[in-house]
Amino acid sequence: MTALGLVLLSMMGYSQPAVNLGESGVANARLLSRSDWGARLPKSVEHFQGPAPYVIIHHSYMPGVCYTTPDCMKSMRDMQDFHQLERGWNDIGYSFGIGGDGMIYTGRGFNVIGAHAPKYNDKSVGIVLIGDWRTELPPKQMLDAAKNLIAFGVFKGYIDPAYKLLGHRQVRDTECPGDRLFAEITGWPHFTLLNGTETTTSAPVEPHVHPQPVAPQSPPAAPKV
Ligand SMILES: [Zn+2]
Repeated sequence: MTALGLVLLSMMGYSQPAVNLGESGVANARLLSRSDWGARLPKSVEHFQGPAPYVIIHHSYMPGVCYTTPDCMKSMRDMQDFHQLERGWNDIGYSFGIGGDGMIYTGRGFNVIGAHAPKYNDKSVGIVLIGDWRTELPPKQMLDAAKNLIAFGVFKGYIDPAYKLLGHRQVRDTECPGDRLFAEITGWPHFTLLNGTETTTSAPVEPHVHPQPVAPQSPPAAPKV
């Protein structure tokens, strides 16, 4: 199936609960569409030309870890509410979310300018591992899903095969993605140390900081489209 096929499947609604990424040669990761988790439409979508040379890892801090798919879907909606309604951004800031259920949740998606790492929003895939990973390591299925998503992105040509893997803290003054998770990703393939000059950010289009306050009570999810 082509990436377009994935998109079309997504647009067909929830009858197809998940897309197996196995065709790309990576194990068992499953990608849920925006309609699966009840996303509102973005206010606007701006694309950038891929493949993305950077992958940037985040933690959500809040919401905390979710272990069931319904809970992780709600976490995605809460983050979208916070980013879109409270912050006034176009959409949830991240390209993808990863749940403690081991599922991958489509945020802005590949090749869409994000709001997660100023200066890198138009050349990266921003992946948030839902939870607070300052002292705890995310469960294995979560780490595996993140790795599978990256492999899938490379396989599909959305991510440069020579991509650089970064933690959010390397490009902004933030504790994100948490000490424990950051220590973990320093051992992943393509993890890259940046020199000081690269971490100097210009004025952000949509600033994004951690930790975030608790997401406000959300109104009912918009009708699925
Ligand atoms: Zn972050």
